[in-house]
Amino acid sequence: MSKVKYYYDPDTLSYRKIEPKKSKKYRNVFLFLAGSALFGTLGLIILLNTRWVNTPKELSLEREVRNYELQFDIMNRKLDQMEQVLANIEDRDNNIYRLYFEANPIPEEQRRAGFGGVNRYNALEGFNNSEIIINATKRLDIIQKQMVIQSKSLDEIAKLAEAKEKLLASIPAIQPVSNEDLTRMASGYGWRSDPFTKARKMHWGMDFTAPRGTPIYASGDGKVVRADNRSSGYGKHVRIDHDYGYISLYGHMSKYNVTVGQKVKRGDIIGFVGSTGRSEAPHVHYEVFKDGERINPINFYYGSLSTEEFENMLRLANQENQSLD
Ligand SMILES: [Zn+2]
Repeated sequence: MSKVKYYYDPDTLSYRKIEPKKSKKYRNVFLFLAGSALFGTLGLIILLNTRWVNTPKELSLEREVRNYELQFDIMNRKLDQMEQVLANIEDRDNNIYRLYFEANPIPEEQRRAGFGGVNRYNALEGFNNSEIIINATKRLDIIQKQMVIQSKSLDEIAKLAEAKEKLLASIPAIQPVSNEDLTRMASGYGWRSDPFTKARKMHWGMDFTAPRGTPIYASGDGKVVRADNRSSGYGKHVRIDHDYGYISLYGHMSKYNVTVGQKVKRGDIIGFVGSTGRSEAPHVHYEVFKDGERINPINFYYGSLSTEEFENMLRLANQENQSLD
């Protein structure tokens, strides 16, 4: 409240109020406003430029940013672990799996190849924490890419393993008559005396002596390509094509249990022991062909026999006795 001033008016003989001039009044108002604006602006500038004055909103935002930084820290540690696990899988993949299945290891530069071309992280640039976010995103992208490469490699390995499994199931790898049914292993592959002429001649298979009617088993997975007695000497015989160049032959059967074209699994009963064809006594004459050549079947039994059984068979098969043909 400004002071009210008076003056003596001789005309009216009374004291009258001094009215301030209008222009002066406006000037005062203007000065007041200008001063306020000036100090207000200065104050605001000082306020905004000091670190020690924070509004509650700023404080809460700062807390939030600190929390995000902490989360990124935790995330990066998880990424460390993921990279280690992945590196371990890649190592085993290259040095064990791919090696075992005769596939070339995936070169390091292919596994670690980066992303060329445009900057994929444009949208993440220009913020206070851009670097943290871009680094984490980059690591994630690389891990993702490595995982795709690794996953493709394992798919390939699975296919190779499957093929290997088929090969292992196909190879004629068991003896065609079970040990319990075997009377004796009469004769092995090699030079033997002919039961009929007594002359020495090559015996191209193994003879398994067993009572007439004993089941004969397929020695590996395959397809029956012959079941007839039109091959001289073998009598009623079955031939199984195992793929990979392997064919097995079972001679002198009394009866067939399969027909031509039939698919068989290892261990399926394909016929029964007999003495048809050029045979002296009931037995199975067993041969294995590889790429058209007859090979010694004894090399395949290791999987299905105990060491003792195998050694016993080896001993019997090597005896230079008479074959049953
Ligand atoms: Zn024989």
